[in-house]
Amino acid sequence: MAKADVVIIGAGIIGCGIARELSRYEVKIILLEKESDVCRGTSRANNGMIHSGNDPQPGTLKAKHNVAGNRLYTEWAKELKFPFVRIGAWMTARSKEQIPSLEKLMDTGAKNGVSELELITDRKRLQAEEPNLTEVIAAVNAPTTGHIMPHLTVVALAENAVINGVELKLNTKVTGISTDEGQVKIVKTDNGAIETKVVVNAAGVYADEIARFAGITDFKIRPRKGQYLLFDKNCCPVNRLIYPAPTKKSKGIGILPTIDTNLLLGPTAEDIDDKEDFSTTREGMRYILEQTKAICPAIDESKIIANFAGLRAVADSNDFILGPTEIRGFFQAAGIQSPGLSSAPSIARELAGQISEYLNVREKTNFKAENEYKPKFSSVSPEEKQQLIEKDNRYGQVVCRCEEVTEYEVLQAMRSVIPVTTLDGLKSRLRVGMGRCQGGFCTPRLLKIMQQELNLPLERITLRGTGTEILVSKLRK
Ligand SMILES: Cc1cc2nc3c(=O)[nH]c(=O)nc-3n(C[C@H](O)[C@H](O)[C@H](O)COP(=O)(O)OP(=O)(O)OC[C@H]3O[C@@H](n4cnc5c(N)ncnc54)[C@H](O)[C@@H]3O)c2cc1C
Repeated sequence: MAKADVVIIGAGIIGCGIARELSRYEVKIILLEKESDVCRGTSRANNGMIHSGNDPQPGTLKAKHNVAGNRLYTEWAKELKFPFVRIGAWMTARSKEQIPSLEKLMDTGAKNGVSELELITDRKRLQAEEPNLTEVIAAVNAPTTGHIMPHLTVVALAENAVINGVELKLNTKVTGISTDEGQVKIVKTDNGAIETKVVVNAAGVYADEIARFAGITDFKIRPRKGQYLLFDKNCCPVNRLIYPAPTKKSKGIGILPTIDTNLLLGPTAEDIDDKEDFSTTREGMRYILEQTKAICPAIDESKIIANFAGLRAVADSNDFILGPTEIRGFFQAAGIQSPGLSSAPSIARELAGQISEYLNVREKTNFKAENEYKPKFSSVSPEEKQQLIEKDNRYGQVVCRCEEVTEYEVLQAMRSVIPVTTLDGLKSRLRVGMGRCQGGFCTPRLLKIMQQELNLPLERITLRGTGTEILVSKLRK
């Protein structure tokens, strides 16, 4: 039987973050993920916002980790080389009746220790800074709010964890946990069992089911769906992340420029029961447009290129569930709904500290904090592009025209420390197929490269693992 000191269940931002922070220590870690790649759960489909911390209820774990996590992002992004920009956010009011909810945000922010907030009521300034927000009469300015591309962040964390000795096992679903006299002992999977001293439950919407395997039944997780509309590049009518005044249930529908210059509108907030229901609806789309156009009439729906949905893992306590439990060695990182992305660095540090203390282990002397810089061809200067092509002419072969992704970058992803083996894996790392043509141009080219690199017949190349084969058979010679 395989042996580990720590088994982490779930390779979303929380599991990968904990794996990375814990890999600073002298411990053998196995990170398990049921899907064919990291970042396939909630961490994949969200706003990508690193909130300032002005929203969560003071005194909650959400508030504590959001504020601390936001600050830590500067360090994570620098070391791990993922894109992170403090673009800033406005929470806006359209009527005098909404101003008290902005004042409440200011108050909550102050209680949470977010000192940079400012209430803007000067209409001239509002207009000058956001000319398309014609209906807005006041806004809370949160300049420390940032945004990331979540999948790139999770991949960077997972790669750094693997570089530092973590064993990542994909396509491995946890099916049970054995305990012995109140202590975790064995993690059972559909790919063999692992004897371990510590289990970390970072299984997203399934965290209540994992806890039940260990005999912990004191919480339930209900998914809360959020639908989105994604717009083409360079049609964003705002200069920062824009939100309406919040309601009790949600932060409202945002107008969200992405790092890649697309525009994202969403999310809705719908309590559902099915943990696999990622469907989008006409009503959801209509609601998103209605809410956002009320703040910003300049939104042009003819530029929509895709829609999708993500599921928040809402625990019945409505707060994060973190740390040790009554089962010795069983640690929770459960109920990580929003602001989970923002809180991830702080949660990861805290859990890594608790587990290293529990195991009484020392920090490694050879921990590699930094990832290698990989230039993104589409973002570098013309001079740097020329240098890259001179270094390797596969940088001159553009495979995805919409996102300007080259053959070199595709091969680099397929040969990285976590080798990409699926089309979705390439999409999430490189954005191939995610532009205006949604894969119409690049998919056949990508399949050819994958066929050669994986040495597989075309019919065995998958979107996201077995059962999702893309091609059925050859029709013409
Ligand atoms: C609509 C929406 C908008 C959001 N916006 C923001 C935002 O702007 N800012 C912010 O800070 N937060 C936001 N969040 C919250 C944030 O996305 C989550 O808090 C975060 O992604 C949770 O990460 P996780 O690692 O806990 O879960 P996940 O990413 O879901 O990872 C859990 C992993 O566990 C795996 N798993 C489950 N069961 C098993 C098993 N039996 N065996 C092995 N593996 C298993 C899953 O496949 C999955 O990969 C948003 C969430 C949603 C849904």
